[in-house]
Amino acid sequence: MQVITTLTDLRHALDAMRRPGASLGLVPTMGALHAGHAALIRQAAAECDTVLTTVFVNPTQFGPHEDLARYPRTPEADTALAEEAGSELLWFPAVETLYPTGEKTRVRVAEIETILEGACRPGHFEGVATVVTKLLLATRPDHLYLGEKDYQQTVVLRRMVADLLFPVTIVVVPTVRDPDGLALSSRNRFLSPPERAAALAIPRALDAAASQVAGGERRANRIGETMQAILADEPLLRVEYATVADPDTLAPIDRIDGSARALIAARVGTTRLIDNRGLHP
Ligand code: AMP
Repeated sequence: MQVITTLTDLRHALDAMRRPGASLGLVPTMGALHAGHAALIRQAAAECDTVLTTVFVNPTQFGPHEDLARYPRTPEADTALAEEAGSELLWFPAVETLYPTGEKTRVRVAEIETILEGACRPGHFEGVATVVTKLLLATRPDHLYLGEKDYQQTVVLRRMVADLLFPVTIVVVPTVRDPDGLALSSRNRFLSPPERAAALAIPRALDAAASQVAGGERRANRIGETMQAILADEPLLRVEYATVADPDTLAPIDRIDGSARALIAARVGTTRLIDNRGLHP
C-alpha cells in the first residue's frame, strides 16, 4: 500500500493506476479506523481494481462546540488496518491541501441538511458535502463507498452526486456492529463501561421498532414512542431524536406503507452516538 500526503503524490499515484477499464473505489474516512471502515475497504477491494482510502478529520463538518480537538487520531493503526483490508492507496491530506485558501467555498444540499442530524448539528452536512466534493474532484473515483451507519449522510451525498452530475456510483455498506449490537464508531472509545452499557439501549430501541413493524404496527408515531420509552429507561442517555422517516427523503411519515427508516441520535455522557435501522412491513 502506498501512503500519500501531498496532492502531487496523489496525482502521480492515480495517473500510474489509471488504465482503460480500470476502476477506482474511494473510501473517505476520518480515521480511527475500525471494523466498520474495514468492511467498506474490503467491499471496495472486492469490486474495484484499485481502492483509495482517505483519512481526514474535516474541520468544516464540526460545529464550534463539537469534538474536533478530541476526535481520535491514530494514523499508524489506520495504516495497518487499511492495508490489511486491501486498500492500495492511503491518502492523509493536510487541512491546507483540501482548504488551500480557507473555508469560503462551500457546497450545500438544501433542506435535507436542516433536518434530524442537520437540525442537531447546524452546518454539519455543508461541511460533509464540501469535503466530499473536494475528494471526488481530487480523486475522480468510479465508486464511492459509504456506511449505512451514517444514513442521512448517504441521502445527502446521493442527492449531491445526482445534482452536481458527478460521474460516480454510490455503494452503501451495511452497519458493522459489536456482538452485543452497538454500532461500531470511532467515538465508542470515549464510553466508560456504564456508558457503553447504557448505549445498548439504542440498538435495543431500533430492534423493538423493527419487531413492532413485523408484528403489524404501521403508525409511525407509535413506533417512535416505543423507541423513546426504551431510551428514556436509561438515565445515562439523553435522546436528541428517535423517529421514523421516509427512507429516501427522511421526511416525517404517518404510516409505514412501503419501507421506512428508524433513526436515533443520543448523547451518553459527552459522547454523541447515532444509529438507524430499516423497517420493512
Ligand atoms: P467516519 O470515519 O466516521 O467519517 O466514517 C467513514 C465511513 O465509514 C462513513 O461512510 C461511515 O458511514 C462508515 N462507517 C462508520 N462506522 C461504520 C460502521 N459501524 N459500519 C459500517 N460503516 C461505518
